[in-house]
Amino acid sequence: MELDNHAEDLASDLGIDKEEVKADLQNLVEYSVPIDEAKQSLRRKYGDDTGGGSAPSSKDIEEITTDDGNVTITAVVLTAGERSIRYQGDDHVIVEGRLADETGAIDYTAWEDFGLSAGDTVTAGNAGVREWDGEPELNLGESTSLSFLEESLEVPYEIGGDAQIADLQTGDRAVSVDVQIVESERRTIDGRDGETEIQSGVLGDESGRLPFTCWAPDPEIEPGASVRIENAYVREFRGVPEVNVSEFSVVSSLETEIEVGSDATTMGIGEAVATGGVYDVELVGNVIAVRDGSGLIQRCPECNRVVQKGQCRTHGSVDGEDDLRVKAILDDGTGTVTVVLDDELTEQVYGGDLEDALEQAREAMDQEVVADTIREKIVGREYSVRGHLSVDEYGANLDAETFEESAADPTVRASSFLEEVRA
Ligand SMILES: [Zn+2]
Repeated sequence: MELDNHAEDLASDLGIDKEEVKADLQNLVEYSVPIDEAKQSLRRKYGDDTGGGSAPSSKDIEEITTDDGNVTITAVVLTAGERSIRYQGDDHVIVEGRLADETGAIDYTAWEDFGLSAGDTVTAGNAGVREWDGEPELNLGESTSLSFLEESLEVPYEIGGDAQIADLQTGDRAVSVDVQIVESERRTIDGRDGETEIQSGVLGDESGRLPFTCWAPDPEIEPGASVRIENAYVREFRGVPEVNVSEFSVVSSLETEIEVGSDATTMGIGEAVATGGVYDVELVGNVIAVRDGSGLIQRCPECNRVVQKGQCRTHGSVDGEDDLRVKAILDDGTGTVTVVLDDELTEQVYGGDLEDALEQAREAMDQEVVADTIREKIVGREYSVRGHLSVDEYGANLDAETFEESAADPTVRASSFLEEVRA
């Protein structure tokens, strides 16, 4: 439903001006308050305390769907992590995590301080159900009655947020990881409270590596350090999952060194694209085309974007700087991605550097010859590509760190090719 419809609903229920309600709703939604919670809070503000429905019945977690309005459940708190959000201009501490019973597990957000901690067994009466990414989630708010039970419920889930890097997904909350800081640097950003110092880099364990951002710089976080990070959350940044270390996270130094695995996750292209983005993945497929905008290109000196016919989309007519890159389409039968090679990898496949490319273009009086040369070398061959896959409105792009012709035995491939030809 559009904001407008929600506002109309509320206005007619509460008998007040629609524009006024809409402005309030818009304000709440801008501060990332889920629409249902925002509506409930406005019902309270304008004096209708019914919450828009009758008392909900008890449900098993497995039975909860996004069609439910409010439910009552009895569950064990698997994880509970604090996080700060800005709400109506004030910083507000919320608690996020996962709840489970015998039948299933569900993510929740607590907008009030109920004092939840991992291992507690609770009954949450009148918990709101909202939809996130197609799945139901629970909102525990002012209208939720929460009680702690003496007897603990047995659930088939691990209590606590201990996780391996390879298992982390966007949306995970209150996770704890034992990792080595692979790279880390401090930067000053223009945050919501003006200039703020943050740390960002890459961390890893035996299972894999992920980028991270630490919003409250911590002296324990420095390259080479092995640390335990408790109560981190995972969100998507530039198309891949990123570990977020907040002011509520606890970072402690570890005695033993955490080894960082050197193997990338190997996946089919279709499967990898379906995950919505993977940091450090290895994909194998055939290069079926080299896209326009490959070979010898020019970049805007202001913003580094590729310029076409001397025109930058943002900065207009500019004196572009020469560079090399390749955008190649890789296909393994299950899906396709655009592999992006930087200048160094492009030099490798081209078999020459920028000077050679400029020379070839001058002689041909056409810079397209560089892309053509690259096409002849790589199209139709199988490559193993390792890098960072992002999936967004621009499509599926794999920023390559390595680009190697597949190691499969050439004689085997030659004979299977011959069989295909004869068939
Ligand atoms: Zn520009």
